[in-house]
Amino acid sequence: MLKGIKVIKSHGIQYVKNLRTQPVSPLFRGRPVIERDISKDDIRKVSALCPSGAIDPESGSIDLGRCVFCRECSFACPGKIRFTNDFRISANTRNGLIIHPGDENPLRLKEELIRKEVRKIFKRSLKLRQVSAGGDNSCEMELNASGNVNFDMGRYGIEFVASPRHADGIVITGPVTENMSEALQITWDAVPEPKIIILAGTDAISGGMFEDSPAVKRSFIDEYHIDLYVPGNPCHPLTFINGIMDLLGLK
Ligand code: SF4
Repeated sequence: MLKGIKVIKSHGIQYVKNLRTQPVSPLFRGRPVIERDISKDDIRKVSALCPSGAIDPESGSIDLGRCVFCRECSFACPGKIRFTNDFRISANTRNGLIIHPGDENPLRLKEELIRKEVRKIFKRSLKLRQVSAGGDNSCEMELNASGNVNFDMGRYGIEFVASPRHADGIVITGPVTENMSEALQITWDAVPEPKIIILAGTDAISGGMFEDSPAVKRSFIDEYHIDLYVPGNPCHPLTFINGIMDLLGLK
């Protein structure tokens, strides 16, 4: 028994104590900042090289729902575009993911658009069914990590469950391929009301690099109300958990 206690002690504290303020690597790519005085030439240059069409060629704004966080734009214009360490980049509207030149403020959910029943019913317990709709297993791995001993989203009652009948909502990853569209619909129909939809990762939010693929069929995304958009390619566990904490009104 003493040996066991020694082993546990030697592991130290493994869980992230404060998921809001956890420091991350300087290499982490979070919320971008575009300088207000970025020139038209620079905008044209970075827009042309962006592999996912995330940069608007007119305004120079970056759409986090399309961005794959490759950082090519910041390498091409180091003084004008940079990526901060801010991992709290989820939004509850599609437009909320657009970063304009000069925007420096942190991204926050639009409180007035959060449905009342979401906080009233799910604040202390939120069970989610994950649907990988043509995903490449990257976001799926990060979602798995969200429940591990380090990130431990279970401390807030947020957990993944096996059956949609036991879930309060679904988390969709992947661009939503045609061959997964029926399974996605069946899963959604099996979740009892009230229920929520979370899109995790660039592919789920916009189709990402696969947007124009004939294998993709995104009518489900267009048809239903999306409660939370979690950007990233893949989305980081801190981004995912913080997004849900914001949605539920957790401190
Ligand atoms: S980091 Fe995002 S916006 Fe910049 S080039 Fe890559 S995909 Fe485009």
